[in-house]
Amino acid sequence: MSDLLERLRDRGWRLTSQRRVVAEVLDGDHVHLTADEVHARAAARLPEISRATVYNTLGELVTLGEVLEVATDGRAKRYDPNAHRPHQHLVCSACGTIRDVHPTGDPLAALPPAERFGFALTTAEVTYRGLCPDCA
Ligand SMILES: [Zn+2]
Ligand SMILES: [Zn+2]
Repeated sequence: MSDLLERLRDRGWRLTSQRRVVAEVLDGDHVHLTADEVHARAAARLPEISRATVYNTLGELVTLGEVLEVATDGRAKRYDPNAHRPHQHLVCSACGTIRDVHPTGDPLAALPPAERFGFALTTAEVTYRGLCPDCA
């Protein structure tokens, strides 16, 4: 069973066949799929699954905090099942491939107090950009 399915089962999320397929499609490392990609892959396994069901299910998973919404500028929102291990993203500027990366050090601590403007910091999102080996 996938990591995400296991987490959802532990939370008592009602696993219909449609929800299960969406959760299965989102399993794995470095998974950052658009809603359309999730729908295409889900439909390959369960042809009757509708786009609306996929969108609604993704919305629920985000609300539950089990899937992250990743916005990489100008491109469609992506869905990331790696919701419990803090990570940043490495994005290829040419093909859009995204990798989960774990920079050394605490990104919150990297912001000096003088640059915080009195904010109580909670999270930091850092996007590293460049060309992946295939595009370089
Ligand atoms: Zn690339
Ligand atoms: Zn990620």
